[in-house]
Amino acid sequence: MLEELLKQYWGYPTFRANQRDIILSVLNGNDTLVQLPTGGGKSICYQLPALAKEGVCMIISPLIALMKDQVDNLKKLGISSIAIHSGLSSKEVEVEMQNTLNGKYKLLYLSPERASSQSFRNYLKHINISFLVVDEAHCVSQWGHQFRPEYLKIGELRSHIPNANVIALTATANHTVKEDIITYLKLKHNFQFFESSFRRSNLNYLVVKDNNYVRKLISILSKINGSAVVYVNTRKNAKEVSEILNKNNLSASYYHAGLDMKQRESIQSDWINDKKRVIVSTNAFGMGIDKPDVRLVVHYDIPYSPESYYQEAGRAGRDNLKSYCILFLNQDQNFNKNEFPESGQIQHFLNCLYNYHQIAFTSGKGISYKFDLTEFTNNFGIAFNDALNCLKVLESMGYLKSEDVNHQDKIKITVNQKDLYEYQVKYQHLDLIIKTFLRSFTGLFDHYTPISVWNLSKELKLSKNQLIDGLKKLSSDGIIDYIKKSSDNTITYLKSRPTKISIDTSIYSQLKNQTAYRKKFMLDYANNTSICREHFLLEYFGELTQESCGNCDICRNLNKNSFSKGKEDLTAAIKKMTLNDKLDIHKIVANFQTNDSEEVITAVKWLMENNYLLKIKNNYTWNTKEKS
Ligand SMILES: [Zn+2]
Repeated sequence: MLEELLKQYWGYPTFRANQRDIILSVLNGNDTLVQLPTGGGKSICYQLPALAKEGVCMIISPLIALMKDQVDNLKKLGISSIAIHSGLSSKEVEVEMQNTLNGKYKLLYLSPERASSQSFRNYLKHINISFLVVDEAHCVSQWGHQFRPEYLKIGELRSHIPNANVIALTATANHTVKEDIITYLKLKHNFQFFESSFRRSNLNYLVVKDNNYVRKLISILSKINGSAVVYVNTRKNAKEVSEILNKNNLSASYYHAGLDMKQRESIQSDWINDKKRVIVSTNAFGMGIDKPDVRLVVHYDIPYSPESYYQEAGRAGRDNLKSYCILFLNQDQNFNKNEFPESGQIQHFLNCLYNYHQIAFTSGKGISYKFDLTEFTNNFGIAFNDALNCLKVLESMGYLKSEDVNHQDKIKITVNQKDLYEYQVKYQHLDLIIKTFLRSFTGLFDHYTPISVWNLSKELKLSKNQLIDGLKKLSSDGIIDYIKKSSDNTITYLKSRPTKISIDTSIYSQLKNQTAYRKKFMLDYANNTSICREHFLLEYFGELTQESCGNCDICRNLNKNSFSKGKEDLTAAIKKMTLNDKLDIHKIVANFQTNDSEEVITAVKWLMENNYLLKIKNNYTWNTKEKS
C-alpha cells in the first residue's frame, strides 16, 4: 500500500533509508521527531502519510518561498495542496479556507503567525486535521539558527486539535535544540525519534588558500567537470564572478534575491537543464532545488554559519557520485563587521518605521505595508546599511517580516458559467478577453489566478491600458474580482506597536553571541590543519565519530604522506614512463618485470587519486599541470 503510493505519485520503487519507518510511525498516530539532513527525503515522510490518511495535513513552515515551492512540486505530482501566506489578500484567504473546508486539499501550508491567529483558529474547529507537521522545527529554539518566537505557540495550538499527532522535522539540530523541540511542541512522552547520519561519503571537503581566488576558481572549474554552484556573500560578487567566468569561456549566470521572479526562474531552469554550467549565487539560491548531478559547490567567501555551510555544500552529489565541496579561505568585507546595532539604535529605527507607516499604538499586528527602504532612509536620515542591520535583527527577534514578495495582478470569475456566457453574448468587445482567460488559465471559477497584464495584452493585441480598462469593466459589472498588484517590498508587523519599545536584551545578546560563535566556528573549520573536515563539521551537529572520511584535503594529505614514504622509487619510475607517453595498466605493470603487480596497481591508483596521473580512456599519462 505505501509502496504503491510511492510508485504512483513519486515514481520511486522503494523507500530510502528510514523513510518507511517514519511514515509508519506517523500513520500509527505517534508524535514523531525526525532529523534528516537536507536532501534526505524529508518531505515524503509527511506528504505520503497525508495522502494515506483521512483529512487535511497541516504544515507549519517558516518561509513563503519554501511553502510555494512545496505546493508547486506537489502540483507536478498531481497532489492538491495550498499555501496560505501573506502574499494572498484576505479575500483569497477566505476562498482558499473555504476550499480547504470543502475537502479540496490534502495538505495545507501555513506560517506560524497565521496558524496562531484567531481567524484561523475559527476555521480550525471545522477542519478535520489528520496530523500536524512542523517543518524546520529548530526554529522553536533560541539556539536554533533561525529563532522564531511564534513557533512557541504551536504547542498551545495542539489543544485545539487534540487528536492530531505532531511530526517535527529538522535538518540540523544539536542536543539543546532537540530538547527545546520536545518541550515547546509538547511532544508526547512516547514520541518516536528518527535520525540519520550527517555523513555523506561521496563528498570531498576541501579548503583552499590562495592569493588569487578568481584564478583559482577558473582552474578548479577546468579540472572538475559537471554542474557547479559558486556561493558568494554579496550580490555584487555574484555578478562580477559570473562575468569573469564567462569571459574565460565558462558558461555561468548569477542569481540573487534582487532579481525579479521571472529572471530568477529562467536562470534557475537554465542551470537545472544544463544550459548553463555554473550558477554564481548568494544564499538566496538553492531552497527546494534538487538537482542530483551537482559535481562541485565552491564557497567563494566563507559563509557565516556551519548550518548554512553544511546545507549549501550538501547540494553537491545528491546522486551519491563523487563530488567536491570547496571552501575558499576568503573573508568578504562584511565578515568582521558588527551587524548588531546598539539596542537604542534598534528602538529608534523601529519607532521611525511605525511613524513611516503611521501605525497607532497597540495596532499594526499582522498587517503588511509597502516599504521603500531608500525612501525611508532618506526621510529619517538613517544610513542604508544600519537600516538593513536593524531590519535583520528585528526580523530575527520576531517583530516583523520583510519580504521580496513578487505580487502579480490576480483575477477570479465570480459568476457561474451560464451567467458568464450571457454576458459574453451581450458584450461582444469583452468576449475575446474572457475567452483568452478561459483558454490560458484553469480554475478561474475557484481561485484567484495570477495574470500577466503585459503578456495578455500582447496576446490580445491590445494596449496595456485597453486591457486594464476591460478588466475594470468586468470587475465593476461583477463578472470578475480583480486584484491589482501592490508594491514589491512589504513589511509585515508580527506584533502590535507597543506604547514603549523595549528590546528584550537577553534574547538580543544571545542572538549576538550565537552569530559570533558560528562565524568563529567557520574560521576554525577553515584554518584547521589536523582534523578531518567532515569530522570537524559533524561534531558541531552533535555527531561524534572516530572515523575520518578519507576524502577531505586533510585526510588525503595524511594518506599521501603515509603512502609515498618508501615508495619514492616506484612512483618516480611511473612518472618517468608516463611523462611523455600514454600507457595502459598492463604496459605499466609489464615495464616493472615484477611478480608483485598488486603493488604497482596500488601505486597507479594512488597517483591517480592524488591527481599526479591522468586517466584518458584506458591510458595513463603524467599530469604535468600538477604542482609539487
Ligand atoms: Zn577527512
